[in-house]
Amino acid sequence: EAKKAAIAGAIREIPDFPKKGIMFQDVSTLLLDPVAFQYAIDLLVERYRGMDVQCIAGFEARGFVFGPPVALALKVPFVMLRKPGKLPGETVGEEYITEYSTDRIEIHTGAVKPGQRVVLVDDLVATGGTLLAGANLVRKVGGVVVEAACVIELPSLHGRKKLGDLPLYTLIDID
Ligand code: IMP
Repeated sequence: EAKKAAIAGAIREIPDFPKKGIMFQDVSTLLLDPVAFQYAIDLLVERYRGMDVQCIAGFEARGFVFGPPVALALKVPFVMLRKPGKLPGETVGEEYITEYSTDRIEIHTGAVKPGQRVVLVDDLVATGGTLLAGANLVRKVGGVVVEAACVIELPSLHGRKKLGDLPLYTLIDID
């Protein structure tokens, strides 16, 4: 509806980034629009209020933008899923393949408690590889992944299918 149209209207497309042939969805312009940015946070908070979510886990880097305001609104912890070598404490990792490269994400051991109900947050789902790796990682440390949430979904890349049984909630589709 109107909120989603405002969000979609605030996202900029940059052709040939980070390499030729890729149409990059740039959420930096969404962040420049406090009304549309707030709508995105509000829709995510509305979705998870009452779902007994106990933790939000966000992906470096843009999951760190959308995840924390949602975690604060729900009054639950925010956990960082980071690129290799960034977390100072003891970590557990998971390898994955993205649209652009092979990568790895890490989590601090002890950040997610066994049995804790976790929602994964990122800015965008493309192939679903990042969200799947995050789900595997959170499960590896004993968390229960309730759902994955992104602002943008690129349906043509079938990320939803790749996630299998893991529910995916997204605010806008971009073809
Ligand atoms: P996936 O693993 O193929 O689903 O790719 C999603 C990951 O790549 C997310 O962490 C996104 O932030 C990033 N990503 C891929 N394409 C874009 C884009 O067009 N704009 C912003 N981020 C993107």
